[in-house]
Amino acid sequence: MTETKKNPVKSIALLCSGGDSPGMNCAIRAVVRTALGDGLKVYGITKGYSGLLEGNFIEMNASSVGNIIQHGGTILQTSRCPEFHQEETRKEAFHILKRKNIDALIVIGGNGSYNGAYSLHNEHGFPVIGIPGTIDNDIEGTDYTVGFDTAVQTAVDAVDKIRDTAHSHARTFIVEVMGRKSPAIALHVGVCTGAENIVFPSDSLNVEQIASDIQRGIKRGKSSSIIICAEGEEPGLSYKIQSELKAQSGLDAHVCILGHIQRGGNPSAIDRFLASRMGFVAVKALLAGEQAVATAYVKGEVVTIPLENSLGKKTEYLPHFVELARSLSI
Ligand code: ADP
Repeated sequence: MTETKKNPVKSIALLCSGGDSPGMNCAIRAVVRTALGDGLKVYGITKGYSGLLEGNFIEMNASSVGNIIQHGGTILQTSRCPEFHQEETRKEAFHILKRKNIDALIVIGGNGSYNGAYSLHNEHGFPVIGIPGTIDNDIEGTDYTVGFDTAVQTAVDAVDKIRDTAHSHARTFIVEVMGRKSPAIALHVGVCTGAENIVFPSDSLNVEQIASDIQRGIKRGKSSSIIICAEGEEPGLSYKIQSELKAQSGLDAHVCILGHIQRGGNPSAIDRFLASRMGFVAVKALLAGEQAVATAYVKGEVVTIPLENSLGKKTEYLPHFVELARSLSI
């Protein structure tokens, strides 16, 4: 059940936390402009939970968010704040928010950031709302997160370029994409680039299968192979695949780790639209008395769901998409 509160909200703060993602600025803009339109005061907190603890509050007006919709990253900057795991630190954050007369906090970020916000709410009853901002698309309860579409497009553009070289030299490339424990980027990039094999973080590594996929392609006249590999906890899995392919099957493969280029860049129209809708819905939800909820994209609609339902990571990906990827890569 979504919790509601009776006190009217007059003043809100918002911050970005964890990894940045393209479209965060669109969400900031939407929150600020919706809130101002509804007569609220809005404070941007710079550098995430660390900035909150340092008292980095900036009052925002309509111009504060002018000319940012097209830019990646976040004008508020973001941070990782390990101290926020401690209850004492969250108590301090609560008192800072109270002293600043803030009635509610909007947090744009991933699972970690949501966990911090949820604890702040649970321990002190402070109203919080989450907006899913992460390229990994790994937040439970929402079909898409802000930044995912742009990150996939960036990786697809890169793989298309690599395919040109792979084709010209009849080579195999292993392209490692971001996603931590999430298979989402790898799956989408694999399908969209016609990859011969996709290696997911949850799978046990089956180099024999990868080799057989490459060899099957060569036999039917393919002049290049692309293996998309999702990074695990740390980048570098692709090097392991490269050396095992050589050792087990004598196959040569080149490695390209895309890394942080997938995080930045101008947000796609889809991310801009999603972030704009979510920022708007977040403020309207606060005004309707909701708290401890997250905005979510569910079957084409932007809705709010209990924050509690979004604390976990979405690691299982739709099995029929995995089947799609395999069926099309023969
Ligand atoms: P993301 O939000 O992108 O998943 P992180 O997991 O790095 O990124 O989390 C961002 C920040 O959220 C952390 O640096 C910390 O300040 C806060 N955070 C993460 N997990 C928790 C938690 N379990 N309890 C309280 N705060 C947390």
